[in-house]
Amino acid sequence: MSKRKLNRRQQWRIQKIQEERLARVKNKQSKLIDDVFEHLENTLYHGIVISHFGATLDIEDDDTGEIFRCALRQNIGAIVCGDKIVWQKISNTPSEEQIQGVVTALEPRISVLARPDFTSQMKPIAANIDQLLIVTSPVPELNEGLIDRYLVAAELSHIHPILVLNKIDTLSDEQRTTLEKRIQVYQDIAYPVLYTSAKSLTGMAALYQQLEGKTSVFVGQSGVGKSSIINALLPEANIREGEVSQTTNKGIHTTSVSRLYHLKTESIKNASLIDSPGVREFGLWAIAKEEVIQGFVELHQYSRNCRFRDCKHLNEPGCGLLKALQEHKISEQRLNSYHRIVDSLEPS
Ligand code: GDP
Ligand code: ZN
Repeated sequence: MSKRKLNRRQQWRIQKIQEERLARVKNKQSKLIDDVFEHLENTLYHGIVISHFGATLDIEDDDTGEIFRCALRQNIGAIVCGDKIVWQKISNTPSEEQIQGVVTALEPRISVLARPDFTSQMKPIAANIDQLLIVTSPVPELNEGLIDRYLVAAELSHIHPILVLNKIDTLSDEQRTTLEKRIQVYQDIAYPVLYTSAKSLTGMAALYQQLEGKTSVFVGQSGVGKSSIINALLPEANIREGEVSQTTNKGIHTTSVSRLYHLKTESIKNASLIDSPGVREFGLWAIAKEEVIQGFVELHQYSRNCRFRDCKHLNEPGCGLLKALQEHKISEQRLNSYHRIVDSLEPS
């Protein structure tokens, strides 16, 4: 038998084994759901998904705040941390699975964070996020280009971005003044900016205030201090510093479990945080060149004045952006950053 044939045959066998395995899991799941459905109570409850492990998820009931382990009704689609759902209790818990309820409906999402899975398909990883805290650090070097990429990703996901400049304890007064000047461009566009130190805890009270009443996620490059900040906010979450980068190196980040945490202090009554290595790696995925301008909010408004609908804003006559630049209404750095991002994307 030729090598090629053998390979094909092997491939076929592997595929068949995988299909059978998948069918067995599905069977087991649907049998579980069937069993469970016989015991479903009629009352509908509302809740939020606080964690998701494979076939089961933990939901928090809206009325009581209690946590229930639930199975997922089939054909409901991907459900992620932060999703608001409708669920029903089961009166007779099948003991081996410890399932207490079934999620029977998904409520509409106000926003969704998504990233490509290993097959490059976009997959939701968290839902109903109000704000994205983009953590950066002036040490070793502030990177405006990266900040702009996060801002575009946030704007296109309809999530309100906030800049967090961490490690300010490492700066001299002079360095701090220089940093503030560089950051002014973002304050001019009305993005909130917070200066923090997870080490000396400077600025942490202001950060707490920013989280009140919202569901937030922290994103940013490895090493900027996300774990340190989250640990300072939420000591019980106990996320090891440096854990994320280690996990990433092993390449298992896409499978890690997201979790929704509540922050409560004397002054903070209602703040939530969704975190996982996958969530933290949120970035600029699979966007079209034409969409980028919408992520530069202050440039976007002037681009409406461009004479040509397909203006590239490079040297075209009647370009609204070049005119705004001449009149000092927009920053040259941001315009350059826009061009760099567009150039870095695959043609659509
Ligand atoms: P992450 O990868 O973004 O989660 O960053 P980590 O929280 O793991 O922090 C990376 C390194 O920076 C660790 O050695 C932290 O102790 C240190 N670090 C974090 N925040 C601060 C800070 O505000 N000031 C100083 N000086 N070091 C910090
Ligand atoms: Zn133009």
